Amino acid sequence: MGQVNTQGIDLAESFFKGHPSIFCLTGAGCSLASGIPTYRRTNGDWQGRQPINHADFLSKFSTRQRYWARSFLGWPTMTQAEPNPAHSAITWLHHRKHLSTVLTQNVDNLHEKSGLTRVQHLHGDLSFVSCMECGKRISRDDLQNELSALNPNLSIQLQPYRPRPDGDTEVPEAFVRAFQIPSCQSCGGDLKPEVVFFGDRVPPDIISNAFEALEAADALLVIGSSLKIFSGYRFCRQAHERDQPIMIINPGWTRGDPQASLKIEESAEVFLPRLVERLANQR
Ligand SMILES: [Zn+2]
Repeated sequence: MGQVNTQGIDLAESFFKGHPSIFCLTGAGCSLASGIPTYRRTNGDWQGRQPINHADFLSKFSTRQRYWARSFLGWPTMTQAEPNPAHSAITWLHHRKHLSTVLTQNVDNLHEKSGLTRVQHLHGDLSFVSCMECGKRISRDDLQNELSALNPNLSIQLQPYRPRPDGDTEVPEAFVRAFQIPSCQSCGGDLKPEVVFFGDRVPPDIISNAFEALEAADALLVIGSSLKIFSGYRFCRQAHERDQPIMIINPGWTRGDPQASLKIEESAEVFLPRLVERLANQR
């Protein structure tokens, strides 16, 4: 655990006291301490290989094969990941009604695992897979069993590969080329995880519901996101246009820094538990 700047805690405490109903947006920085790496380094640049592109996933067998091969190897780590103190703190803040809404850019289910039942997912979540033809849904856990059955000789290669935030992982090319991918059991269509890949658009009803919730709140709190992607940044821009104060907790640069009224340069899992301690002691 790192040192927490006392002045930052004072300012954050005042921010919460002054704004009883806060809309919270969380990003990959929240899940980092749970072993799920972020896409971006602290300067906001791409980290490693580009993620899966939506149009490629739809049109190219090789992209789907690569995705599922990597996802197959990364899934055990994703399911074994546990919430960290940042998730617990956010759940506490929501249960105590400090946070009116929690919207996450993460596709893991660590907020839910920490007991937060009403989390909104901006980019979907990895727990379900659906058929792109008939829409039939299956759980990602069930699909893992199908993938294992289809690739009996490759399963032995299950190694502790590091997963990426979208649940896949870097794997050898020979593994990818040999990987068998399943089709929908009802219609034979291609399967897709229920996440928004890069290049796809977030479903409009998710955006409009989130904007409504933001409008009803007193302020915006961003935790663990560089906001470099417009999909998340739009909430910062909207809040700024409405003169709603913005607090950002992120250890590095964010696109929302110029609009923020309070910026805390700390890791969420270090800072948030201290903030919770402060707020809890007031009651
Ligand atoms: Zn189908």
